[in-house]
Amino acid sequence: MMHLRCSVSACATTLDLHDRALACPKCGDLLEVVVEPGSTDPADLKRIWLNRRLSYDPRDASGVWRFREFLPDVYGPDGIVTLNEGNVPLIRGQKTASWACLRDLRFKHLGFNPTGSFKDLGMTAGMTEAKFVGAKAVACASTGNTAAALAAYAARAGVIGRVYLPAGQASANKLAQALDYGAEIVQIDGSFDDALDALLNGNDPDLYFLNSINPFRIEGQKTAMFEMLEQSGWQVPDYLVVPGGNLGNSSAFGKAFIEMKQYGLIDRVPKIVIVQASGANPLFRMWDAQAEELKPVAHPETVATAIRIGNPRSWKKALQGVHFSGGFVLDVTDEEIGDAKEMIGRDGIGCEPASATTLAGLRKLSESGRIDTDASIVAILTGHVLKDTDFIIKRHKKRSMADAHEAAGVHVH
Ligand SMILES: *Cc1c(COP(=O)(O)O)cnc(C)c1O
Ligand SMILES: [Zn+2]
Repeated sequence: MMHLRCSVSACATTLDLHDRALACPKCGDLLEVVVEPGSTDPADLKRIWLNRRLSYDPRDASGVWRFREFLPDVYGPDGIVTLNEGNVPLIRGQKTASWACLRDLRFKHLGFNPTGSFKDLGMTAGMTEAKFVGAKAVACASTGNTAAALAAYAARAGVIGRVYLPAGQASANKLAQALDYGAEIVQIDGSFDDALDALLNGNDPDLYFLNSINPFRIEGQKTAMFEMLEQSGWQVPDYLVVPGGNLGNSSAFGKAFIEMKQYGLIDRVPKIVIVQASGANPLFRMWDAQAEELKPVAHPETVATAIRIGNPRSWKKALQGVHFSGGFVLDVTDEEIGDAKEMIGRDGIGCEPASATTLAGLRKLSESGRIDTDASIVAILTGHVLKDTDFIIKRHKKRSMADAHEAAGVHVH
């Protein structure tokens, strides 16, 4: 039977799949879903998944539920809450590749999802489970994108959606989405971490909780790596590069590779490289110091608001994937993020600031010789270019002012 298990292997406490607990009752750490993909031959599974793209079953039309052999799959075609998420492109980098001195760079653009970020992949799974257990209201704390995704999927499910946002810190575009999809907005004075604490401490038994500590969200997000490999003809890249905030997505990707290897879909895994913003880099600090425990950053600060998080809840899970894959963690400055974002735009692709940490990190790695310039690399773009238009306008205004000053012989610093 599919079930939940404590993510700390030394504990391994198990719970019923539909238990609504968010933490292990024994040790308090995060839970995870233990999948049971059955005994279908991996080659057959790959064929089945691809053939589903020709089907009109709502589960087959979703780039998440198409891979349901590796998901909790107890809901049936009418039980899932879906907006045809997933099935997003893997796009070759051109100017970006030469800018980072790389030969083989591709972007998996999860910003091409229905609400413009990868959060949709987790939300279809989480909201489906919420509906299955009869939740009437769902909630999350968010830097913006989880709020937008929750609001849209709650509307589809016909349940009340409530989102906790750090006041004045989420981009206007993301806030507008949550409003448009009809969510209740609760503004919290403080950071994302404060908003999450407020929600968790509220302890409201009527609220179904949909942050990425919810193990069903991780299952949905996991499928992006199944799809990426399918699009690569199941040829495994050397590196998979992902931005790190609360570290749910990094955890999901690690779990995906561990399971795909365990069940014979692939025979090796890409090195997972997590990139944080230098003003919100608790995992990098821990990695760099070779410490055993993560120390939160009290006042996280970065232009990449989606990863402005000081106390990432999923750090242990994320490190499992990094260690399993032989990967590592690094950080990049806001300036490096801005430059990389602009290059991604020049490739005709575009993304929000947090996504550009990947290219910024890659340039840093190839310049310092830490990765082979011939390596095959997939970088994850997490959010759409229209998610933070304020950032773009401000950057270009500043530039045109500097240009005007220069023309007039005035130097601005
Ligand atoms: C949520 C988000 C992230 C961070 O993902 P985590 O799972 O919190 O590490 C990065 N980029 C974007 C655009 C996001 O919305
Ligand atoms: Zn435990």
